[in-house]
Amino acid sequence: MNSKLDVITEQVRTCQKCNLCQTRTNAVPGKGNPNAEVILVGEAPGRTEDKNGEPFVGSAGKRLDEILLHVGLKRDEIYITNIVKCRPPTNRIPTKHEEKSCLNYINDEISIIDPKVICVMGNTAFNTLLDGKEISKNHGIFMKKNGRTYFVTYHPAATIYNQKLIDELKVDFKKLTNFLRKHNNEKQYEERRCDFCMLKTNHEVIVIPKIITKKRKWLYKCTECNHERWLIPYRTIAEGLY
Ligand code: URA
Ligand code: SF4
Repeated sequence: MNSKLDVITEQVRTCQKCNLCQTRTNAVPGKGNPNAEVILVGEAPGRTEDKNGEPFVGSAGKRLDEILLHVGLKRDEIYITNIVKCRPPTNRIPTKHEEKSCLNYINDEISIIDPKVICVMGNTAFNTLLDGKEISKNHGIFMKKNGRTYFVTYHPAATIYNQKLIDELKVDFKKLTNFLRKHNNEKQYEERRCDFCMLKTNHEVIVIPKIITKKRKWLYKCTECNHERWLIPYRTIAEGLY
């Protein structure tokens, strides 16, 4: 639970800032892990989402689940939201006015969660958050804006009528998870301290990955006092080193 996110959820559920509140069944607030390293951003709820009040639970959600499974990401470790939180009638693209009315919710979600990367899926999210156009020419790239890192990819719904795109989306999501893995590796180096003199010093340790009797282990070695310690690493972080 995160009380700041809960406040946004409540505001969204009762929001009347644009005309979409008159045609929605349920508003659809963002959902997921408040400590997520990645936020996925879609366009707007569809029919199933409007009925259930949850993001990406219809056919686009099934495509998304297929991709998440492919790269080993679980819904409960990420956060999923949309640019516009209420369904536009007949699933039309949201108007600029609707996007603008809803924008402060996504800005707040981003600043509360403070993720390592924001994954914009599809033209609406690309255009609203990064002023971008033509996802087909720009997908698979990382961008920086106001000190935040963004990753650009297709909307999962685009793959429903175009089987070829699902492969491209999977390749993009691999890039995204590699970025997260690399980031975590760097963090491991930065934060690890000599286990023996940890409280008294800020000695750096070097991490030496090894395979010992078929088990992966890392040797943590303090560069100053030569203390050593064997640890079995957290699996997904270690995989990036082999
Ligand atoms: N498409 C979106 O952009 N968001 C959803 O939540 C569902 C479908
Ligand atoms: Fe409010 Fe956004 Fe829904 Fe419009 S789309 S009513 S701004 S929550």
